[in-house]
Amino acid sequence: MSRHTKIVATLGPASSDPLVLETLIRAGVDVVRLNFSHGKAEDHIALATSVRKIAAKVGRPVGILADLQGPKIRVGKFAEGRISLDAGDQFILDAQCELGNRERVGLDYKDLPNDVGSGNVLLLDDGRIVLEVNRVIGQEIHTTVRHGGELSNNKGINRQGGGLSAPALTAKDMDDIRTAAQIGVDFLAVSFPKSAADMYMARQLMLACGGHALTIAKIERVEAVATLEEILDASDGLMVARGDLAVEVGDAAVPALQKRMIRLAREKNKLAITATQMMESMILAPTPTRAEVSDVANAVLDGTDAVMLSAETAAGHYPVQTVESMARICLAAEKSTLITLDRDFLDRIFTRIDQTIAMSALFAAYHLNVKAVAALTSSGSTALWMSRLNCGIPIFALTHEPEAQSKMTLYRDVFPLLIKETHDDHDVQRYEAEQRLIEAGVVVKGDLIVLSYGDQMGLTGGTNTLTIVRVGDRVAPRI
Ligand code: PGA
Ligand code: MN
Repeated sequence: MSRHTKIVATLGPASSDPLVLETLIRAGVDVVRLNFSHGKAEDHIALATSVRKIAAKVGRPVGILADLQGPKIRVGKFAEGRISLDAGDQFILDAQCELGNRERVGLDYKDLPNDVGSGNVLLLDDGRIVLEVNRVIGQEIHTTVRHGGELSNNKGINRQGGGLSAPALTAKDMDDIRTAAQIGVDFLAVSFPKSAADMYMARQLMLACGGHALTIAKIERVEAVATLEEILDASDGLMVARGDLAVEVGDAAVPALQKRMIRLAREKNKLAITATQMMESMILAPTPTRAEVSDVANAVLDGTDAVMLSAETAAGHYPVQTVESMARICLAAEKSTLITLDRDFLDRIFTRIDQTIAMSALFAAYHLNVKAVAALTSSGSTALWMSRLNCGIPIFALTHEPEAQSKMTLYRDVFPLLIKETHDDHDVQRYEAEQRLIEAGVVVKGDLIVLSYGDQMGLTGGTNTLTIVRVGDRVAPRI
């Protein structure tokens, strides 16, 4: 049985070796994440080249997601790389400090002292270390350590309750967008957007650099939760970025927000990725905890398109086992969901012809109990409409555009297949579509399939035809 929920895996030292990367991809990684918080442009370019080579070898499309660092406010570096803080210690965040020690550390965002005040609670390294601000003196933030621990170079800083005012796209992000466009990534994740304008800006910059990526808004700020609908309207999808989000809104608020975000994304015809600490213990252990198993399964039940791995695959000891476990959990969770059409499906009014065909295809597939739904689609938009219904029927998207194929790696329920070309002759096109599905091992002679296409082949958004065929009934047309 095939897995319908997609797996995004962050690459890093634990997974950059071509042999490991190939094993990871074979184990089920659908999309790799290049984390622009680490590494140089040439590292990302080399990794992307390596991923594409392996994907071609393995014979499966693998999408590439570039994740911008964003204005994450971070501490600077320490002379010794790391320090240890104890509860009750005094510690200074000093915008002018060059190399840190046990008493103070520098800041990459020099305006932070202007943004915080006495009584504020600062959370470092995703909340592992908690500092309370006593007072701000010039460029120095004097704090008392509430929760101690080890603090190493460049760890993030959040304020409880949010509201730090750094702009969404930094100069580094703008450079990185250029690199991402040069690589031709499929997805561009924007960190810490506060508004729809931030997402428009990222998209415009990317287009100006010749990129074509779908944009993903990482929801990790209090402000982004408040303007979720507008941000989604300006993006192609969202990431439930639970690491920073939990720090800003409080960890207990995140599970309900996750459900709301995924539901809203689907309603708006957008994508959703659920991220951070999904299999955290597998950084060091070969098996997940019960809680992690439930977390991944619940994200699947919430309807997420993809579940994401961060340090587990970037820096963990068991990257391959983590992907294997995640794949196994997704499959089991998918099996447990009842395949039903949304109740409100019957009451929906559509405005677009292609959307109407997509919905009709699923309706027919569901009621006739066909083997597969297939869509001839040049941009992948028909497959996206179909996959937003979350009814578990596999959707085979046949496209002749490699770019569209790679984007569909993230769509839940969608299996993108490349076809060589499109034909104006519908008989030839339909015959070839059938042949491609047989070749992919999806159907055999005698199976029923529902197939959608546009009667003007190759026209984006031109899907207007639905046909139900029994595989093998059609005689080969003369080409
Ligand atoms: P990050 O984003 O890993 O880039 O911080 C994800 C998150 O905050 O959850
Ligand atoms: Mn984050």
